[in-house]
Amino acid sequence: MEVEVKALVEVLPKRIQKLGELAYNLWWTWQPDAQALFYKMDNLLWGQLGHNPVKLLRALPKVTLNALAANPIFLAEYDRITAAFEVYMNSGTHAANAATWFSKHYDAAQWAKPVAYFSMEYGVFEVLPLYAGGLGVLAGDHLKESSDIGLPLVGVGFIYQYGYFKQRITEDGWQEADYPIYDFTALPITLVRKPDGSAVTVTARISGREVTMQAWKAQIGRVPLYLLDTNLPQNSEYDRALTQRLYVPDPDKRIDQEWLLGVGGVRLLRAMNIAPAVWHMNEGHPAFLTIERARELVSAGHDFDAACDIVRKDTVFTTHTPVPAGNDAFAFWQIERHLNGIWNDLGISRDEFFALADQQGSYGMTPLALRMSARSNGVSKLHGEVANDMWKWMYSDEARAAGSVVPTGGQSIHYITNGVHCPTWVPWRTKRHYTQYLGENWLENADDSAMWQKIYDMPNEVLWQLRKHYKRKLATFMLERARTKWLTHTVHPVQTIASGVMIEPLHLTIGFARRFPTYKRATLILRDVERLMRIINNASRPVQIIYAGKSHPHDEPGKLLIQQLYRQIKNADSAGRLVFIEDYDTNVARHLVMGVDVWLNTPRRPYEASGTSGMKASLNGALNFSVLDGWWPEAYDGTNGWKIGRDVYASEAEQDMVDAESLYSTLENEIVPLYYDQDAAGVPHGWLNRAKNAIATCAPAFSTRRMLKQYIQEMYAPLVK
Ligand SMILES: *Cc1c(COP(=O)(O)O)cnc(C)c1O
Repeated sequence: MEVEVKALVEVLPKRIQKLGELAYNLWWTWQPDAQALFYKMDNLLWGQLGHNPVKLLRALPKVTLNALAANPIFLAEYDRITAAFEVYMNSGTHAANAATWFSKHYDAAQWAKPVAYFSMEYGVFEVLPLYAGGLGVLAGDHLKESSDIGLPLVGVGFIYQYGYFKQRITEDGWQEADYPIYDFTALPITLVRKPDGSAVTVTARISGREVTMQAWKAQIGRVPLYLLDTNLPQNSEYDRALTQRLYVPDPDKRIDQEWLLGVGGVRLLRAMNIAPAVWHMNEGHPAFLTIERARELVSAGHDFDAACDIVRKDTVFTTHTPVPAGNDAFAFWQIERHLNGIWNDLGISRDEFFALADQQGSYGMTPLALRMSARSNGVSKLHGEVANDMWKWMYSDEARAAGSVVPTGGQSIHYITNGVHCPTWVPWRTKRHYTQYLGENWLENADDSAMWQKIYDMPNEVLWQLRKHYKRKLATFMLERARTKWLTHTVHPVQTIASGVMIEPLHLTIGFARRFPTYKRATLILRDVERLMRIINNASRPVQIIYAGKSHPHDEPGKLLIQQLYRQIKNADSAGRLVFIEDYDTNVARHLVMGVDVWLNTPRRPYEASGTSGMKASLNGALNFSVLDGWWPEAYDGTNGWKIGRDVYASEAEQDMVDAESLYSTLENEIVPLYYDQDAAGVPHGWLNRAKNAIATCAPAFSTRRMLKQYIQEMYAPLVK
């Protein structure tokens, strides 16, 4: 048992000591019952401590712990959950004593070595501030599903002392960033140690100096996630700060970070004697891992080309960014300054080294990853097409003739559409209902469309009760956040109104929550403010819109969008029906996707690679209302949500105009009337039938269960010898 876990276990009464182990395994984050166990120990403290069980168990007074250890009701729950935890850890499945899907389909002996998954960010739970948005949440869901499905996998990433950032909105709508310093010893993670108790450390050379890293482990069910950390006394102040923040805009620091992730990650796995069978790069950020692996092979006696061939045989890459600026590319001279001399270690020239990552004159992490992988994929059907188009110059005959490095076999980019982890995104009451109508094993069969047809057995009245429950819960959530803020901060009253205190839970409620880059067009709905005001303030059929989302602290246009939106929200005309929830995180996301009726998404097609928040909403019976971008063209069938706009436009100006018109008219003519078409008992049957269509069609197809099976079958298994 790790030192930290042991220390926590020892302060607990014997009868409930397993809580210590439970706290340090993030399995509890997708087990509502396990969360409830912590919650019931002291619900106020649980909230105040940010849903952190390590802090909670340390903070509870001895008398409270002793009382719980003698409380038969608590103990019955405790016994049930710790038993389920043990079953899970031994079999890795939701169903007691059953084999996992993976163990039923693949030979354990052949899969003795794990898949190594590298990502710059991971969104596992709000307690671990390692993510900025959808890319991270997807990575978190990938790990959880790997654990559930029984795939041997290890994750590698960073732990950030300042996390991403905490968002605060000023009275004038300006986003300010707070950087709380996280105390790693208070998080549910443990330091990776050698048998003698000292920290495992590895180094990587940057600009001629050695930077030392240690690592923390977050246990995600059966999957370990290793998190690199440079905050060590042997490093300079500059190097200690390299793992302070996620997505630093300074390209010098960015190169350093990415080098540390790729090189440090490989060396860390070596130091722990983990020999991956497959290396998976989630986005281009970790692509330097291929250089480090080639370097290992060259120093073992292979020539560089042979080394690259070997690396390619077991490396896969997922690209996520159809926005050109989203793909990291650096100037050659800058790379040279940081990695100087690395080509000597590889036995090649400077030019050969740069050719490997050449992106029309700069050093591109995506071309490097594409050229060093056996297989690559985009994250939706449409994105697969866009990615192929974007990178086809790399595969062309001209590129080949010009001597540029072409990916092996000139392979084009496949696609595996993203999914969401059902146990994470379905709250406990809904889980209970789904269990009743879909059967005990519904989570094990989350990708089975035939099973989801049984959702139609759920009476509309039952579904409506459930929807209303979570609609009220969302309203209470906003109210309590506003109250806490009012109590603890200096806020203008209008900010309290803007944070959702005037929301009427039973009115039609639309959610829009995501990062605020300009391509997501968060303010598209403000194109005709008067028309919008008529829609939301219709006395007999009012509409409410709840916004949340962070803009990157250095993205000024994104922050201006938030401001524009916030000013409209504060405007008295909006009648408290437009709302902005500060500091979007996985907790806010859960409340929103469960509690809104419509999930709005207005990206500029085709810049949304996939999007996953709409999948979470559909899974909960909210109706997706979106531009036909990312995953939505694959899902939309005319009966399970609504589309905005069309596929092709002559210009961006036309696109904005047509999409806005489509947005308003669909709201006015279809969405609002359908919601308010309720029977004498207030049940909107037409709406609920549509909600069931959304659940039945989207839940199975856009589950990580379906997604991970595809990764295993199409990306990992073909590379495992
Ligand atoms: C799901 C999720 C996202 C992804 O949002 P998209 O609209 O799919 O881009 C971002 N942030 C958080 C906190 C999420 O839970």
